[in-house]
Order: sequence, then C-alpha cells, then structure tokens
Amino acid sequence: MPITKSSRNEDLTKLTLEAKDIPKTADLPALMKLHRKTLVNTIKELKKTDPKVLDLTVHRLHEEAFQLFDCLDCGNCCRTISPAITYAEVDSMAKKLRIKPSELVTRHIHMDTDGDFVFNSAPCPFIGDDNYCSVYSARPKACREYPHTDRRKFYQILDLSLKNAEVCPVVYAVIKKMGI
Ligand code: SF4
Ligand code: SF4
Repeated sequence: MPITKSSRNEDLTKLTLEAKDIPKTADLPALMKLHRKTLVNTIKELKKTDPKVLDLTVHRLHEEAFQLFDCLDCGNCCRTISPAITYAEVDSMAKKLRIKPSELVTRHIHMDTDGDFVFNSAPCPFIGDDNYCSVYSARPKACREYPHTDRRKFYQILDLSLKNAEVCPVVYAVIKKMGI
C-alpha cells in the first residue's frame, strides 16, 4: 500500500523517543556527515506535513527527549553559537553581574552584520566548566528558547532546525526520528 498523507500523519503521531535515539554530543559531527542526506530529505518531507500534526509530534518528542537528556551533560549550544541579545537583555545580564551595561558590552558583546548584539566569541563567557550558566536567571530569550523544538508553527523553522541538528543532540534525534 502506498504511503498516503494521512498514513504518514498517523505514523508521525505514533513516534516516541528512547534514550538510545539521542546521540552523545561528541558524536554529532560524524553522525551529521553520515546522515545529512537523510535529514535533508526528512526536512523536505516535513514541509509537506500538516503543520498541526508536525507541532504535536515535535512537541511530544521534545518533552520525551528532555526527560531523557540533561543539557548540563552537553552545553554545546552555549559553546558553539551565540544568541541574539536585545538592549533589555544586556541590562538584565549586567544587573545580574553587578556591572554597568557599557562594561558588559565592552568586555563581551558586539553588533553583528545583521544588527544584532551577540557575544564576541564562543564559548559564551558565562558558561562554566560544569556547563552551568552564571547569568541563568537573566539569560537572553534566545537561550531560554533554544533549541526551539517546543515552538508553535515548527514548519517555519524546519531549515533552521537542520542547522541546529549540527549543534544539538536533541534536535538531531527529533528530526532523525521523524524520518520514517
Ligand atoms: S548566556 Fe547562559 S544560556 Fe546563554 S549562551 Fe551563555 S551560558 Fe548559555
Ligand atoms: S539545548 Fe541542545 S545543544 Fe544546548 S545544551 Fe541542551 S542538548 Fe545541548
């Protein structure tokens, strides 16, 4: 029997993640090299999927993944990419650090070519060796929302999520799992 849209939707809603589906962060580069084509094709297929089914599936897999995987065992996003930071967030982080916003900017922040504030370099200056964030309660929204697998209208960030799969083992596992 050919795979129809409704049977594919039904298959997606039945998916579930196990601990073995989530790779070690250190293994991501090799896995991406090996499975990039599959992931690209999965993203193409997911663009044709009912957005509501996609959201329900991704959100459930996100919940399952973060019950099985602890960001404190990873920290790869904080070590490899910078969030976009707003003026208000510069103020909040500076307050948390008990320094002036201008001092925070001078030491750690610049404006990128898109006009966003970003950290000068990766790893982020606030990630510790134990992967704890020293400005956690004042961290930027982009940090709080990463890796966006619980976001509504996930179809809007399918291409971005392919990039995020290179950084985040949970995104990798979620997309790989949906490649049915
Ligand atoms: S501010 Fe905190 S959460 Fe954000 S990148 Fe830095 S260490 Fe990570
Ligand atoms: S969000 Fe992803 S990349 Fe960032 S620490 Fe958690 S598992 Fe690692």
